[in-house]
Amino acid sequence: MYSASRSIPAVALFLMSCLSATVAFPQAVKFIRHAADPLPLANRPLGRAPCTGDSGSAVPASYAATPATGDVRSPCDTPPVRGPSVNPCHLASLTEIGCPTPRDLVQEELTTMGKTGQKILRARDRVLEILQTENACSAWFREKDSHPADTFRTLSFEVDRHGEEFVQESTDPVDNATIFRNPYVAKVFQGDGRYATITINTNGAFFYPMSVVVQVWKEGVVVSHRGPRPTNVGPYPGDTRKAQVLVLLHEFGHVLDLLPADGNNVEGKSVENTNEVLRFCRAEIESKAKRGALWSSALRPSD
Ligand SMILES: [Zn+2]
Repeated sequence: MYSASRSIPAVALFLMSCLSATVAFPQAVKFIRHAADPLPLANRPLGRAPCTGDSGSAVPASYAATPATGDVRSPCDTPPVRGPSVNPCHLASLTEIGCPTPRDLVQEELTTMGKTGQKILRARDRVLEILQTENACSAWFREKDSHPADTFRTLSFEVDRHGEEFVQESTDPVDNATIFRNPYVAKVFQGDGRYATITINTNGAFFYPMSVVVQVWKEGVVVSHRGPRPTNVGPYPGDTRKAQVLVLLHEFGHVLDLLPADGNNVEGKSVENTNEVLRFCRAEIESKAKRGALWSSALRPSD
């Protein structure tokens, strides 16, 4: 595990040599990236696997080709924290020794999206925490995917800035009951698997706690506007972290085909699916984030 006292050059070199690993820990990456920013990206041996040799092996060609300074040894020849027998870039040891992880491109893109990206990012971080620890929620997702956190990490995000923004109020023609249909919150292709894209409506409950109600006639004709109405996600008010985490877990359920399709909330299927997610994941959604595993006290965010 890194601490703030580790020198920046050492961190940077370590990162250069370990980019081929496939496990990323967003919180750790955030610090490592910051420390390594001065490095020109072009010098990073992307896609290579220079860090797979045992300690004592020859310095890989890709590493040797980078601008060397004097007698600098490959950091992967250096005994890791736990002892020389551990390959510091072996996937299984990443968590234990805090090996620098590859660039998390999804995270990097979200950090360029201002406040919108920040909200997605913090929910994504929490979902990753949930999925990479042992709990009822991660066990449920493992019914379909033995490594749900790895799969979730590959998902990218888009925002729909032209999505529905009103709650539509209508009357059921059968029993005259009043029906409220909230703007969609997020969507994804059913069963899309790794590298799927979750689209989030910037006008929906992921970002807003209230929406204006419009009364609609048959065929969707708007006949009047009403005041705002809360747009909850399950039991949580819109624009809260719990609601956002629930949204991402729900969409991930579709990605893995763990939840049945529910486009357009047919017969309340979307609500049923949300309740199914809550059945397994409510405790984790409502528990405090466990950041201690990756953050030293000096680096712990104020949150
Ligand atoms: Zn759904």
